[in-house]
Parts: sequence; structure tokens; C-alpha cells
Amino acid sequence: FKSRRLTAEAYTTGILKKDRVILSQAITLVESKLASDNNLAEEVINNIIPHTGNSLRIGITGVPGVGKSTFIESFGKYLTSKGKKLAVLTIDPSSQRSKGSILGDKTRMEELSNDPNAYVRPSASGTTLGGIHSKTRETILLCEAAGFDVILIETVGVGQSETSVKGLVDFFLLLMLSNAGDELQGIKRGIMEMADAIAINKVDGDNLQKGQLAKRQYQNALHMFPPNPNGWVPKVSTCSAIQNDGVEAIWKMIADFETAMKQNGFFEGNRKQQNLDWMQETIKYHLETDFYNHPEVKKAMEPMKELVINEKSPAITVAKRLLALYHENSNES
Ligand code: GDP
Repeated sequence: FKSRRLTAEAYTTGILKKDRVILSQAITLVESKLASDNNLAEEVINNIIPHTGNSLRIGITGVPGVGKSTFIESFGKYLTSKGKKLAVLTIDPSSQRSKGSILGDKTRMEELSNDPNAYVRPSASGTTLGGIHSKTRETILLCEAAGFDVILIETVGVGQSETSVKGLVDFFLLLMLSNAGDELQGIKRGIMEMADAIAINKVDGDNLQKGQLAKRQYQNALHMFPPNPNGWVPKVSTCSAIQNDGVEAIWKMIADFETAMKQNGFFEGNRKQQNLDWMQETIKYHLETDFYNHPEVKKAMEPMKELVINEKSPAITVAKRLLALYHENSNES
């Protein structure tokens, strides 16, 4: 669809006035791949920066079917009932469906979507991992400037995207199921290591005992990891998202985390580090883009690849020749 393009000032005032339509348009703008949109987006981000940083950023992940959207709906309703303003950056259901999940056509988080104190935004589908990364960060900032105090970022727990999201959030929650044995295999070890807490979902009905057993198993598994420098010991809790059970305790635990990290300085420290990472990723992204878009490099790329494929020349030598081409032909002072 065609989005209306406003001036940077119009976006800025709209966002600060908590205008949701303009917020949505601004998110579309930062997600745009057009160079001209990028410049405008950067201007908007610069304008709103003084109004950002005041939310709690929470990452939520788990394999399809674990109950993420049900949990976020339940957790989110609880938060808005406590007067919080909640933004949810969620997985685009169509992108999930195309990956063969059994999501059906139901609207995800329908109640929350109609809650005046919540804002649900599906992430742009079809973006690359690198794209999702920087754009999600900017989307968080836009939501903060629009007055949201809790931001939930949902991902599917399969790998790469979690590493990226971990770099954007203050707290990382992993949703799991009671069948710990199977789950431990499905979820990558690295993802468990990143978790500040594990919530075992669907602990209801016949699952109550299994849930308690799984809780002990996950606790043991978490103890195998080296201790966090921030002093936080990852917690395991059980919940039933569908029965709104255990959700309040999870929020209390996250609030405890926030208090402790603000007291020991790790909250600020983590955000500062994340900003430095953002700078470095941006540099890396632009260097790489410049390199691959350079006309001389583009011209030489295919023949050079042939050299590598046919083992005429070692990859490292070919890479250096391409880099030399880039340097010789770029107008550096
Ligand atoms: P997602 O793919 O991770 O977002 O999972 P959904 O939230 O769509 O949930 C997948 C299925 O599990 C749905 O049929 C839900 O109704 C069901 N479900 C979610 N949470 C619970 C729960 O706490 N208990 C039970 N018994 N079922 C649940």
C-alpha cells in the first residue's frame, strides 16, 4: 500500500501527541528500504530521541504453538489493567503461516488489539534478519516516544533472531512446554543461555504435575550455565496463559529484575552497551552495502567467485583482491 509521507516535524509532533495513526506511519517509514525514506526516518529518530528510554523492553520467544500470542494477550491485559501502556511488536502471522505453522486464520491477540492502552504492531514480513534488527530498535524508540511504558518484542525461538532481539531488550523471557526432554532438544542451548527467565506454559488440566517436574529440570539445566555478571539468577516459573494463571507472578519477577538491575547499575550499563553495538552494526552495515554496491566490485564479483569455485585461487586472496579494487576506486581522502 502507499503510505502518506509527512514532514519530519509532522511525524515528530504526531508521535509525541500519541497519535497512533502517525506512529504506525512512522514505523512504516523506518521499515522502508528507500534511501530517501531512510534520511527522513533518521531525522524523525533524532527528533524523538530525548523522549525515549523510559520503557521496560521485554523480549518473548518460544517455538510456534508454545502459546506466545495467548500469553502476550493474558500478560498484556494484566499490564493494562494495572495502568500500563503496552506496545507489542509481534510476528506477522502471514509470515509465520508461510513457514508451515498451524496458526490458522485467527487474529492473534484480538482482545489486546482492541485495548485502548495497548498497541499491537506486526513486524514487517519478508525483511532480512539484519533489517529486522535495526528497524526493530528504531520501532522501540518510536513507541517509547509515543508514551508506551512496556514494550514486548515477540520472536519465534529458532535461533538467529533471538540473538538480535537479546541485543534490544532489558529482559528476555523464554516460553517452554512441560515436556522438557523434547523441548530441550528443540530449543537451542544458546537461547536458553540468553534467558533471564523461563516460563513453562500450559501448566493446567492434566499438566500440573508434569509442569512441576519440568520446572525442576529447567532449573537444573539453568544451573549448568556460568553465572551472569549482573548477579541475576535466571528464574523458572509455570503458567497457564489460557487461564491467566501465573501471569501476575511473572510480572512481579520481571519488576524485581528491573529494580535489582537499576540498583546495581546493570540496567543502564546494558543499554549503553546496546547503543554502542547499534553504532557498530550501523557502520558494518554501511561498509558492507557500499562494498557490494561498488561498480568495480560488482563487475569483478562473478569472475572472482569463479576463481574460488574452480580452486584457481584461495578464497582469502580473492577477497583481498576485491577489497583492493574497492579501495583503489573509492574516493577516500
Ligand atoms: P504461539 O504460536 O506460540 O503464538 O501459540 P498460540 O498462543 O497461538 O497457542 C497455540 C495453541 O495452544 C492454541 O490452541 C492455544 O489455545 C493453546 N494454548 C495457549 N496457551 C495455553 C495454555 O496456557 N494452556 C492450554 N491448555 N493451551 C494453551
